Amino acid sequence: YEEGSSEDAWPPTVYVMVVILLGPPGVGKGTQAVRLIDSVGGEHISTGDLLREACRDGTDLGLEAQGFMDKGELVPDLLILDLIRDHLSTTDSETSIVFDGFPRTIAQAEGLDGVLLDVARGVSEVVVFEAPEDELIKRLSGRRSCTDCGAVFNLHFDPPTSEGECGRCAGPLVQRSDDQPDTVKNRLRVYESQTAPLIEHYSSHPASLKRVSAVQPVNDVQLAFRAALGIGLTV
Ligand code: AMP
Repeated sequence: YEEGSSEDAWPPTVYVMVVILLGPPGVGKGTQAVRLIDSVGGEHISTGDLLREACRDGTDLGLEAQGFMDKGELVPDLLILDLIRDHLSTTDSETSIVFDGFPRTIAQAEGLDGVLLDVARGVSEVVVFEAPEDELIKRLSGRRSCTDCGAVFNLHFDPPTSEGECGRCAGPLVQRSDDQPDTVKNRLRVYESQTAPLIEHYSSHPASLKRVSAVQPVNDVQLAFRAALGIGLTV
């Protein structure tokens, strides 16, 4: 808004947020981010989705990233920060942003603060989703996504009505190559060693940090997520 530009512009009715979702692979960050944004607006920025798109398109970034992703390792920080900088240059400064799967290292978190400062923004909320490891392994092994529209299903919790077919667009459902058991174990180890330290990092950051249990039905997680953000409680 511009102060004084119209009677409605002040006070702002919607608080523009920059939210970071932390939590291990499989905890449901993407599912919760999409649900939130479908109902309250804003932009969902998933570096995993952007990288998979780059791999599919065969761009230089995709070719560099693929090997790391196949092994469940992190793609180098500089590549990720370039990707985020490019992406944010096209994002309106009055759009709320939910980062999912980024930052994943302290260096990325520090880089993000710099990128946001350049556009006069800052991280406002950090939400940590939590679930035990056996639950994460079960969720990841059952995850299937649509190759056409990207919708995500889970064979254990949210099965598609017709096997192998997307309930939204009828596209084919596939398992992500990095959801295979060995890669999953490595991704969980990488999370613990490189990404979990961000919880401590954000504890002494101006952003507010909240923890949400992801071991409850999807709608209840969404309610707890919204409560953590201090926004409306209807799903
Ligand atoms: P995700 O979809 O978030 O689980 O990410 C899938 C894979 O993409 C990860 O296992 C990493 O190889 C890579 N990746 C996604 N986001 C990042 C990031 N912020 N930093 C480094 N690698 C990433």
